[in-house]
Amino acid sequence: ELMFIQKQEFYKNFDSNSKHANHMSQTALLEEVARGSFRMYLQPKCDISSGEVVGAEALVRFGDKTHGLITPDKFIPLLEKERLIRYVDLFIYEQVLKQMTAWQQQGKPLFPISLNFSRITLLDADLMKEMLEIYSRYDSVPKNFVQIELTETIGEVEREIVFQIGKSIRDQGFQLGLDDFGSQYSSMSLLTFMEFDTLKLDKSLIWNLETSPSCRTMVKCIIDMCREMGMECLAEGVETEEQLALLKNMDCTTAQGYLYSKPLPADEFGKIYL
Ligand code: C2E
Ligand code: CA
Ligand code: CA
Ligand code: CA
Repeated sequence: ELMFIQKQEFYKNFDSNSKHANHMSQTALLEEVARGSFRMYLQPKCDISSGEVVGAEALVRFGDKTHGLITPDKFIPLLEKERLIRYVDLFIYEQVLKQMTAWQQQGKPLFPISLNFSRITLLDADLMKEMLEIYSRYDSVPKNFVQIELTETIGEVEREIVFQIGKSIRDQGFQLGLDDFGSQYSSMSLLTFMEFDTLKLDKSLIWNLETSPSCRTMVKCIIDMCREMGMECLAEGVETEEQLALLKNMDCTTAQGYLYSKPLPADEFGKIYL
């Protein structure tokens, strides 16, 4: 009961109409992390030709089904503003490793899981040190089964730092993904000086496939570019059979979206797919 009241109080932080909004202390956040208020959801990634699940993306949620779930768009901007997002990003990173270790111990097959690091998290000078420290507790998980997704919306000044951390993520043996490719900002130039294992085609491109011939041309070119550059190309936000058929025709290999499944609590995901 007490926990419920505390949770309701904490929820106010995410309510833009509340007087508590736009402020959160590190202590309050860490208490919520420790209390298990942040949860990892998993959304499957599927091989387009076989339809088989070949991986997953970890997505954070706050709360639970009884008290209400809050999606990241409600709390990530606040956590970024307060420079607290790294605690949540590293918490999800540890949950990914913990979940994979549990599945290993149960003799289940492993497949790669990706997770999202905020721009703010990437700028933290201690990031790699902390990643390796956490990893040392779960080192039966192959590092190349863990992929860090970063987004293309990165400013000029931050490029050098992001380049360095991106490089050390790959040098350490983890994988690197470029998220939201083809959204608002162009990340074409990122590809000229950074290497990625996976490129994720932004939802907006996928949703325009059926109606826009120029969008189809662009997507086709990006898919071909990925193949030539030795990158996996993953289509995000696939919702219809028509989108999937078009992607298959263009030789796109991997897809993720509501057509296959919404993000699920990690245990539910395990029950269904493993
Ligand atoms: P994203 O990384 O681009 O993740 C994909 C988002 O699209 C997820 O929203 C997912 O639920 C949603 N999605 C997947 N398939 C479909 C579909 O077919 N149709 C539609 N309409 N949506 C689909 P979600 O989980 O609300 O996450 C929103 C964003 O929050 C993510 O976008 C990511 O940028 C950020 N995020 C999520 N988890 C984390 C995290 O642990 N750390 C950080 N820093 N950011 C995170
Ligand atoms: Ca992502
Ligand atoms: Ca995305
Ligand atoms: Ca995003």
